[in-house]
Amino acid sequence: ARPHVVVVGGGYGGATAARYVRLWSGGDVDVTVVEPNSTMISCPLSNLVLGGSRRIADLTLSYEGLTRHGVRMLPDSAAAIDVARRTVVLASGSLLLYDRLILSPGIEFLPNAIPGLAAPSAQDQVLHAWKAGAQTTALRAQLEAMPDGGVYALSVPPAPYRCPPGPYERACQVAFYFSRHKPRSKVLVLDANEDVVSKGALFKRLWKERYAGIVDYRPGFRTVDVDVATRTAISELGEKIRADVLNVIPPHRAGAIAARTGLANANGRWCEVDFLTFESTQAPGIHVIGDAIQTAPLMPKSAHMANQHGKVCAAAVVDLLSGRAPAAAPVLTNTCYSFVSDRDVIHVASVHAYDAVKKTLLVVPGSGGLSPAASALEGTYAFSWAANIWADTLG
Ligand code: FAD
Repeated sequence: ARPHVVVVGGGYGGATAARYVRLWSGGDVDVTVVEPNSTMISCPLSNLVLGGSRRIADLTLSYEGLTRHGVRMLPDSAAAIDVARRTVVLASGSLLLYDRLILSPGIEFLPNAIPGLAAPSAQDQVLHAWKAGAQTTALRAQLEAMPDGGVYALSVPPAPYRCPPGPYERACQVAFYFSRHKPRSKVLVLDANEDVVSKGALFKRLWKERYAGIVDYRPGFRTVDVDVATRTAISELGEKIRADVLNVIPPHRAGAIAARTGLANANGRWCEVDFLTFESTQAPGIHVIGDAIQTAPLMPKSAHMANQHGKVCAAAVVDLLSGRAPAAAPVLTNTCYSFVSDRDVIHVASVHAYDAVKKTLLVVPGSGGLSPAASALEGTYAFSWAANIWADTLG
C-alpha cells in the first residue's frame, strides 16, 4: 500500500510539511491534513488590523493550493492519538491510520493561569487576539470604541511565547492608530519579562522618539489575574492596573492534542524533538513542529521557523518512508519583521545549524542581525516576505 502521512493542524508548520511531503515524494506518499478551519488566517500581519491599515480578509488564505498538490484536506479535529496502533481518532468519530504523523497544533492558553478569564463571557471582554481571526477584529472594535484619552493595556506573558517581537509590534500598531486618531490616549505595556524580549533597543527607541508620550513600558509586571468588570490587570505582587481596553496574552503551551498524547515532556508545556527529524522524543512515528516544540537555543516560535521545521520534517519523513537515512546537517533560517507604523518596519534575522555533538540547532556565529532603524524600504521587504511565505506554505 502507498504510505500515508497524516498532518494535524493546517497552520504554518502543518501546511508546509504537507505540501513538501507531496513534492519531495514525487506524489508517491498520500497526505491528509486534519484542520477544522476552512481557511488559514495569518497571524503575521494581523497586528496591522489593530493599527487600521489591513483587514482580516486581507490575511485570510485558501487551502486550494494544497489540494492542487494532491493533499487531502479533512475538515475535522484530532480528538485522540493511539501511538501503539498508529491511529488518529477524529472529533467526528472516524479513525485515520498513519505510517507517520506530523503534529503542528500551535498553542493552547494555559488553563487556569488567569482565573478571572475562566468564564467564556470574560474571554469575550478581555481579549488575547493571539490567534488571528474573530478576536483580532473584536479588539480593533474595542480600540475604535475607546474614547480619546483612554488607556489600552497589553499584558505580555513570560517567555517563551508565540512570536517574541509580536507584543511590541502590537504596542507600536496601537500607538500608530492613537497618534493619528486619539492623540491623548496611552498604550501601557505590562511585561512579565524584565526587558523587551526581542529587538529591545529598537522598540524602546521608537517608543521614546516616535511614540513619545503615548507608549509607557512597565517591565516585571506579571499578570496573574484580571477583574473583567473593571478591566483591571492584577500582578503577582498585587499591583492593579485599570484600563479602558485590556488585552491579555495568557501564558501558553503546546496545542491541547500534544499534551493529551503525552508529548509535552518539557515542563509539561512543550514537546521535545530530535532536531534531525522533528520526531518526538516521547513517541516513535510522531513528529512535532511549529510553536508546539521545545525550541533550540535562541530559536523563536515564529511562522518562518514553523515553515522551516515543516521542510526539515518533510524531508526526513520522505527519507524514512523510503528506507533512507535523513540528512545529517539541516540548516534553518528565520526573519521576523515588525511593523512599527503602516509602512515602516524593523527586522531580526538568524541562521540555525545542527550541531552533531550537542544534538541541537545552534545559531551560526556572525549570521543574521538587526535593522539599524525602522524604514519604509524594510516595509516593502516585509510585505514580500509575507507573500513569499504564504506561497511557500500553501502552494
Ligand atoms: P498555527 O499556525 O497556529 O497552526 C496550528 C493549527 O492547528 C491551527 O490551524 C489549528 O486550527 C490547528 N489545530 C489545533 N489543534 C488541532 C486538532 N486537535 N486537530 C486539528 N487541527 C488542530 N511569525 C513570523 O514568522 N512572522 C511574523 O511577523 C509573525 N507575526 C505574528 C503576529 C501575531 C499577532 C501573532 C499572534 C503571531 C505572529 N507570528 C509571526 C507567529 C506565528 O503566527 C506562529 O509562530 C505560527 O503560526 C506557528 O505555526 P504553527 O503551525 O505552530 O501553529
